[in-house]
Amino acid sequence: VTNVPPCVSRMQRIREGIHIRTMKAKRKVEEISKEDVQAFLRKNAFVLFTVGAVVVGMAALDSKASGKMGMRAVIYYMTTTIIAVFVGIIIVLIIHPGKGSKDEFGKQQTIEQVSPADAFLDLIRNMFPPNLVQACTQQFKTKYGKRTVHVTVTVNESLFNSTNGTQEVMEVTREEVIPIPGQVNGVNALGLVVFSMCFGLIIGNMKEQGQVLRDFFDSLNEAIMSLVAIIMWYAPVGILFLIAGKIVEMDDLTQMGGQLGMYTITVIIGLLIHGVLILPTLYFVITRQNPFIFIAGLLQALVTALGTSSSSATLPVTFKCLEENNRIDKRITRFVLPVGATINMDGTALYEALAAIFIAQVNNMEMNFGQIITISITATAASIGAAGIPQAGLVTMVIVLTSVGLPTDDITLIIAVDWFLDRLRTTTNVLGDSIGAGIVEFLSRHELRSRDVEMGNSVVEE
Ligand code: ASP
Repeated sequence: VTNVPPCVSRMQRIREGIHIRTMKAKRKVEEISKEDVQAFLRKNAFVLFTVGAVVVGMAALDSKASGKMGMRAVIYYMTTTIIAVFVGIIIVLIIHPGKGSKDEFGKQQTIEQVSPADAFLDLIRNMFPPNLVQACTQQFKTKYGKRTVHVTVTVNESLFNSTNGTQEVMEVTREEVIPIPGQVNGVNALGLVVFSMCFGLIIGNMKEQGQVLRDFFDSLNEAIMSLVAIIMWYAPVGILFLIAGKIVEMDDLTQMGGQLGMYTITVIIGLLIHGVLILPTLYFVITRQNPFIFIAGLLQALVTALGTSSSSATLPVTFKCLEENNRIDKRITRFVLPVGATINMDGTALYEALAAIFIAQVNNMEMNFGQIITISITATAASIGAAGIPQAGLVTMVIVLTSVGLPTDDITLIIAVDWFLDRLRTTTNVLGDSIGAGIVEFLSRHELRSRDVEMGNSVVEE
């Protein structure tokens, strides 16, 4: 509002103010979704890293073992993700952080519904990209593309001036790109993962002919790992400025005050229940070993996840913790971790379902049983589709909101606290992947042992 000259009327100033806020919020969303230089770098590192790591991981397995291991990993991923979604839903329904509506602002939005079937079909479509080069660089044309969203904002002036209670309606029309499952920053992550898995499996089974390709991907993987390690040296500087910047913008935080505070607490409780109670219990029930000793070995990776908000950037540290501290077989980590960092995101799934219901509560919208099931399906898909980069979950959240007709604009409400919650959900994501590696190794111990015997034990300690 301060940018507007004082001669304009109060109503105009309010209107301008809202326009500025909308633009500011829009810019924030664009910062996350547009292909700026940072995204470009992240994208390239991500593509090379995903392809390198997954191909190397799969190539290290023979098809029989990878088939069984793959099955176990997928069952673990799906089970824990679904549990996480339900924890999120139950906790948000019990605590009800969106109590007390924001209808003073009367903000409403008419949006088309995207059926869960469409969201699901797009997910399948993205698993098998028709053009691999395009999968690395461009968004696909699908049911969701660019579309124009009409936002109607009702301004109640009594909010700003207690003696005058007039109301005015303002129309804002803008265009937004709807992200689709499996794609973040224009990279079809899921498609690349599926391709890399198949490709890795093939070259793993090619005997001598495949050696050149195996060496190539091995060395590509090592190079990218070293690159990420260098970048990580500068991470603390970035984190310092990020937090300082957020403190300067503190007015955003106080605006929704109570509700956002309760929302933050609810997400923390949900993530704690999943990370400290459910995952360790699952680990204990299956392996009969102390889960907290296992988690203690992961400390460095968990702190890195907290610091970077990125499961992909944390990967090298996760590998190190699991292989060196927890002595998990490399054949397991090389396969389970890169795939897990991309598709197994318990924290993100929990968060997306919880945030969607919070937004419904804030808008005084009751979610019926069918809508809650839709949220659980789309939150699962959105977490699979989110890449392991900062705030990817916030972008894929549009899928969840759209599927049940919730205002996508309200994502801007939770942006203020997302820098913090992103760190926590990333930590849960990394914990989920690591515990998964422990469980899959335990369940695959017989195959690993017989493979060692066949190979004369040379594979174990490379
Ligand atoms: N930042 C998360 C991760 O890297 C993804 C998310 O935004 O939820 O795991």
